[in-house]
Amino acid sequence: MSKFWSQMAKRAEPYVPGEQLEQVDLIKLNTNENPYPPSPKVLAVIEEELKGKLHLYPSPTADNLRQTIGDYYNLSANEVFIGNGSDEVLAFSFMAFFEPGEPIRFPEVTYSFYPVYAKLFDIPFEEIALKDDFSIDAEDYFQSKGGVILPNPNAPTSLYVGIDHIEAIIKNNPTQVVIIDEAYVDFAAQSAASLVRKYDNVLVVQTTSKSRSLAGLRVGFALGNSSLIDALIRMKDSFNSYTIDRLALVGAQAAFEDKAHFQKATERIISTREGVMEKMRLLGFDVLPSQANFVFATHPMYLAKWLYTELKKEGILVRHFDKQPIDNYLRITIGTDDQMEKFFSKLHEIINI
Ligand SMILES: *Cc1c(COP(=O)(O)O)cnc(C)c1O
Repeated sequence: MSKFWSQMAKRAEPYVPGEQLEQVDLIKLNTNENPYPPSPKVLAVIEEELKGKLHLYPSPTADNLRQTIGDYYNLSANEVFIGNGSDEVLAFSFMAFFEPGEPIRFPEVTYSFYPVYAKLFDIPFEEIALKDDFSIDAEDYFQSKGGVILPNPNAPTSLYVGIDHIEAIIKNNPTQVVIIDEAYVDFAAQSAASLVRKYDNVLVVQTTSKSRSLAGLRVGFALGNSSLIDALIRMKDSFNSYTIDRLALVGAQAAFEDKAHFQKATERIISTREGVMEKMRLLGFDVLPSQANFVFATHPMYLAKWLYTELKKEGILVRHFDKQPIDNYLRITIGTDDQMEKFFSKLHEIINI
């Protein structure tokens, strides 16, 4: 800290992302990336775009990508906002819809970026306790003073809340914005995108980082009533006209157009996930019923922190949050079947079963 820092710079408590080690033989199951490559069509359009276009600015309005994503969800382009990763979409949303002075609500155990944005923008927040099984009680989010943000499925618990509960939360906050962060929804039952035309106070935020294997490209998006989208555009255009570069614009569009590739990769992850949950239970783990591309588990006999350290020694990186009430849990990203086999063989050695 220095005397030159603004109040905002002093107030900031930056998010700490999962370790990104560049060790090549490491099995990386710690940041919920997709283990499979993106559609080959993504690479083809990026190569095409590289041929002589980089000297030109990208589209400031991202119209083609908005139209493509709109078509995918039966919405129009003006009901879609594109951001540089959904983290940026979320930051703009906090600025556009939440006020200093009016407390927003989110779960006590959730994506740790929410308190970071709230502190940065001076927005008070209420962290709502989860039930003993880590599930969410929709009524706890009714009639909020400042708005609601809820990931569905939740991270890091992996639990999904049924669309009827999500709709009840939206309905019972008629004068506030309810943001549903659907980073993992493609691995779950149903998106709340179908509620966008029904309610003017819901914003559905998604990303291409997980289910579309494009974490390195940085494209996230929001679906909502065009008046909400307009507010996000005002925020973006007050910061940077060109948040999405040329490669990201064409790459993300190709990813949405290749539905077959997406479906196959997603089904593969879901099928691996079901096997992983079963195997972990056989090893004595208590595993939450996941609808995401990761599992959240605890063992009655082995400390999570110790397991994390032992796995890391063996070149397998998982995520451990040194924070109550989840400090005895591990979050394990679903990798390829081959990666998960190696994970289980090391885990067997470590816990000696
Ligand atoms: C991964 C994740 C994000 C951020 O995704 P990007 O689009 O890569 O910025 C947002 N919310 C949750 C809950 C996530 O897990």
